[in-house]
Amino acid sequence: MAWDFETDPEFQKKLDWIEDFMREEVEPLSHLGLAVHGPLGREKFIKPLQQKVKDEGLWACHLGPELGGQGFGQLKLGLMNEKLGRNGLAPTIFGCQAPDTGNAEIIAHYGTDKQKEQYLWPLLNGEIRSAFSMSEPTGGSDPLTFKTRAVLDGNEWVINGEKWYSTNARYAKVLVVYAITDPDAKDPYRRTSIFLVPTDTPGVRIIRNVAVGGGGEIGGGNEGYMEYKDVRVPYDALLGERGAAFVIAQVRLGGGRVHHAMRTVGSCKHALDLMCQRAASRNTRDGKLADLQLVQADIADSWIALESFRLLVLRTAWLIDKHKDYNLVRKDIAAIKVLMPKVYNDIATKAAHLHGALGVSNEMPFMHMVTSSLVMGIADGPTEVHKVTLAKQVMKDYTPDNDLFPKYHIPRLREEAQEKYADELADLKKGYDALRGARETEKA
Ligand SMILES: Cc1cc2nc3c(=O)[nH]c(=O)nc-3n(C[C@H](O)[C@H](O)[C@H](O)COP(=O)(O)OP(=O)(O)OC[C@H]3O[C@@H](n4cnc5c(N)ncnc54)[C@H](O)[C@@H]3O)c2cc1C
Repeated sequence: MAWDFETDPEFQKKLDWIEDFMREEVEPLSHLGLAVHGPLGREKFIKPLQQKVKDEGLWACHLGPELGGQGFGQLKLGLMNEKLGRNGLAPTIFGCQAPDTGNAEIIAHYGTDKQKEQYLWPLLNGEIRSAFSMSEPTGGSDPLTFKTRAVLDGNEWVINGEKWYSTNARYAKVLVVYAITDPDAKDPYRRTSIFLVPTDTPGVRIIRNVAVGGGGEIGGGNEGYMEYKDVRVPYDALLGERGAAFVIAQVRLGGGRVHHAMRTVGSCKHALDLMCQRAASRNTRDGKLADLQLVQADIADSWIALESFRLLVLRTAWLIDKHKDYNLVRKDIAAIKVLMPKVYNDIATKAAHLHGALGVSNEMPFMHMVTSSLVMGIADGPTEVHKVTLAKQVMKDYTPDNDLFPKYHIPRLREEAQEKYADELADLKKGYDALRGARETEKA
């Protein structure tokens, strides 16, 4: 009997270590704000914690041992990420922050030795950062509409185009750029290639940085609006085969979506904890908030939504470990991608609401959570697109029946059942006839 919802005691010890470390070291640090993020702040605050994580054997756990990770697999990673998900700084401290994780993953899969030397090992050691430059300002949901071109000129590619929301481009040493190389290829999914472009290549420019959420200065933020103007890179700046961008991106985005979902479980749990804490503490004329039935309904609904989402995420992680192929788990990944923003938005909104004015203030984390929930419904593709993927995968198991009434029309099922059990029904009829005969004989 293989179904099991318990964590083995050895791994539980690691989770307990993470729990204590998060509470005592990571969470306090995240309240220091910008002081932590500059080069000196990173050296002083982040590097020592990263070292503790390395010493504990918990660094870059999304990677296999051949790449310096622990090779825990996705299920254990899911349980870990639930803890990291409640704090934005945690992935950096544990060496598993997006977009570097996904970028490292595809360089590991498809990179040449030279590319690994140049980018992979420094990325894994947390020495450099990277950005994924795929979406374009004309629309990111459908990659077939992208226009950025890379044209071969001698032994060099010349890249021209604009990209939108290249997260962390301002900090990145290398940009993973999507560009059309073969516009005439018959298969539209073989027209685009991926390039590794050093950020300091002439012609690469951040037009503007964009921030997520309301407020703040225009031009601030970490989302790079990029221009590539006559950017020249050598032929071997190609990552993987020419024309293979879509295949490569599936590896990157498949893992990324699951990891976001795992961390979102942690964020939802955090929001629910705060909601319950407030409900237990705030007094009204009729008792604590927790004594009011409408509040109880919100708590119950949130708990059910969170637990259902969590189980779906962990089962998806388990399936990835089992099949070792994201493509075979596409349906499940699409499902959690769709569910993630909905559950997160619902719980974060309820938690904010229950805190009243304090809840919607900038002195509480809820507005950030609500914005993040909206981001989860857009980044890595909008909900609608994932619903379509999910529905198509579900529909693979169905073939049309062409009769006027469907196969499951009850009169038809009844007729089929009568045919199947004709002998038994005939026996039954005989039995009842005999009983009736006996009763009539008795009466007479
Ligand atoms: C915080 C954040 C970080 C990001 N980081 C990166 C990054 O590092 N690199 C990168 O390349 N991109 C990144 N993105 C971009 C992201 O991938 C795109 O925003 C996403 O693919 C949607 O594209 P779009 O914003 O252009 O929206 P559009 O494509 O304009 O879509 C807008 C809306 O239209 C509707 N819609 C679109 N298509 C369909 C459809 N087929 N069916 C039904 N409805 C549809 C949906 O409601 C959708 O939300 C990031 C986005 C965010 C918010």
